[in-house]
Amino acid sequence: MKFADIGLSDELLAAVHAKGYDTPTAIQAQAIPSVLMMKDIIGVAQTGTGKTASFVLPMIDILAHGRRRALMPRSLILEPTRELAAQVADEFALYGVNHDLKMALLIGGVQMGDQVKALKDGVDVLIATPGRLMDLFERGKILLTGCDLLVIDEADRMLDMGFIPDIETICSKLPTNRQTLLFSATMPPPIKKLADKFLTNPKYIEVARPASTNTQIVQFKVPVASSRVKRDVLKELLRTDDVKTAMIFCNRKTTVRDLAKNLKQSGFSAGEIHGDMDQSARIAELDRFKDGSINILCCSDVAARGLDVKGVSHVFNFDTPWHPDDYVHRVGRTGRAGATGRAFTLIAPEDAEAIGNVEKLTGGKLTVFEVGQGAKPAATSEAKPERAPRAERAPRAAKPERAPRAPREEPEVQAEAPQDEKPRQDRPKRDGTKPPKVEPKAKAAAVEAGDDVWNGPVPSFLGISAL
Ligand code: AMP
Repeated sequence: MKFADIGLSDELLAAVHAKGYDTPTAIQAQAIPSVLMMKDIIGVAQTGTGKTASFVLPMIDILAHGRRRALMPRSLILEPTRELAAQVADEFALYGVNHDLKMALLIGGVQMGDQVKALKDGVDVLIATPGRLMDLFERGKILLTGCDLLVIDEADRMLDMGFIPDIETICSKLPTNRQTLLFSATMPPPIKKLADKFLTNPKYIEVARPASTNTQIVQFKVPVASSRVKRDVLKELLRTDDVKTAMIFCNRKTTVRDLAKNLKQSGFSAGEIHGDMDQSARIAELDRFKDGSINILCCSDVAARGLDVKGVSHVFNFDTPWHPDDYVHRVGRTGRAGATGRAFTLIAPEDAEAIGNVEKLTGGKLTVFEVGQGAKPAATSEAKPERAPRAERAPRAAKPERAPRAPREEPEVQAEAPQDEKPRQDRPKRDGTKPPKVEPKAKAAAVEAGDDVWNGPVPSFLGISAL
């Protein structure tokens, strides 16, 4: 099937072809015709499947007809994080290039004045995080009664972040006969309940997880004797596995920081993205990665979630993620949309349980890849694990490294959950006192806003702009 066969307008097809796409992905082929027929949709799909275009494209054609009105957006896209909201805005701008549509981006950490002005002028599509939208709604700056099309994207992430009560409130403010599209990587019971309550006779579309079925991603687990040797094993892989661009995921922000510093000291061209950086610093770092100023990005899960970085040749899990879903998200950064990629997960003894959970989720044992430097094969239940050849290619590091000192063990910051996942208020205080209890809504706002309220200029790709 081609894009030309699924009912999109010629103007939109021109924009899609200009981007270089002529074949829709599975979620696009199934969702676009139904959205154009004004049906409600449940799309079980995750980042990497092309799901964003599966709602952005038909929305553009639907919104092409009709008039804007002040303070009354015609459609609403809810995203769990600012980064995802900004990326959806980018796709709208890209595909909407031949249409006269206006959008506004309502995200925390950006001054409200410009956002309110854009709303006053009238917008066709509002892309928002729930916290900021509720804030403006409660101040009477926005009316949702003209909003006939609602997209709830990454619903399971919204659940993780405590946004479901806000979403229920928002849904109840929209016209009941609106069209609703809900996308989620998984369908836990609270999301099913939400869908039952707010969608009407939806079409259910489920597409394969890109990481579990995508043969374009070769995935390995690399046993290491202890977490002390992880840095050395990682550096050997970085030098020998033809790494062009790599994202390296760690479970803790402190590990991200220390690892990036250590890689730089060893001559690698590395940067970092984690939840302690403010929005502008994260964007600047991402831009350096995208424009090739650095080729290695150390990341935490929340900070990197949903970031669309193309052409990543490698993903490294410096730590096995505590939540197996995060494995799929991380590995999905490589091998995207036709490109091949390699993913390596370093397994110290303390990662054993987590990798077991990952393998349960993805439905198969990962291939063991052995690297020297104290690594030994992991004890697995596999009868005969397929072994990949040792890395043999020539080093690629910018500078030769000094003889490595034994790296210090990471300080255990938090044993039970990744720091980034937890709202600041929930974490134990340094002095050992219990933090105050936070209501879900305040919690969600805290996650969205963090401490990093950003009052600087709005970068053009985040900006509120006419299409
Ligand atoms: P998403 O799942 O929306 O995050 O999209 C993942 C990546 O796939 C993005 O880089 C898109 O630009 C790309 N993409 C979307 N649709 C297509 C398509 N039909 N063919 C090839 N790549 C696509």
